[in-house]
Amino acid sequence: MSEHNHHSHGHDGHDHGHDDHGHDHDHDHDEHGHDPEMARAQAIRAEALEAILVDKGVLTPTEVDHYLETWNHRIGPMIGARVVARAWVDDDFRQRLAADATAAVQEVGVNPGRLERLEVLFNEPGVHNVVCCTLCSCYPWTILGLPPSWYKSPEYRSRIVREPRAVLSEMGLDLDTDTRVQVWDSSSEIRYLVIPERPAGTDGLGEEELVALVTRDSMIGVERLATTSPAGNPR
Ligand code: FE
Repeated sequence: MSEHNHHSHGHDGHDHGHDDHGHDHDHDHDEHGHDPEMARAQAIRAEALEAILVDKGVLTPTEVDHYLETWNHRIGPMIGARVVARAWVDDDFRQRLAADATAAVQEVGVNPGRLERLEVLFNEPGVHNVVCCTLCSCYPWTILGLPPSWYKSPEYRSRIVREPRAVLSEMGLDLDTDTRVQVWDSSSEIRYLVIPERPAGTDGLGEEELVALVTRDSMIGVERLATTSPAGNPR
């Protein structure tokens, strides 16, 4: 097992706000790989901060609840999944996405008021796109919700541009040597959404069923969606 296996899938995307949590552990993290003491300390700090802000009249508890509800349940990868599924079933939408993604995603209900300039990257046989932000943690929040903690880690941000194949392999995605890897560096001006390849064996599925197959990580470009067909040939 590689020492870099902390890029485990399934981080819950909460903003843990720290970059130093046990990155050099050599055991295999699972999705609960965060230090529980660290998480508890952060929860206490967050509650204390909320109490102070409420006390000073900066925030009301209702506003805090609304914010949490919004970012935990209403804005998240399910929005990006709608964009992806629509792109799979509707070629006209796909072309509008390619031409002007910022405008096109509004067709599936993305709030334009908060949208940064967005571009979509179509994965296809022989071409794999993956997204990062080398400077900080720019991310298409309005489409994917809160970024996973590994996305913000200095290690991912520095290594994915230098050795994308190795990083992707450690995250469980082994690409053919003849597949071209394109790494896209986000910024405050522009955000990227990867449209993963439609899995084989999904021809009979409707748009709603397809939405359910799309994962957050596939839209960052660190995962490829597995075929749903037992007779298929996932690579
Ligand atoms: Fe950034």
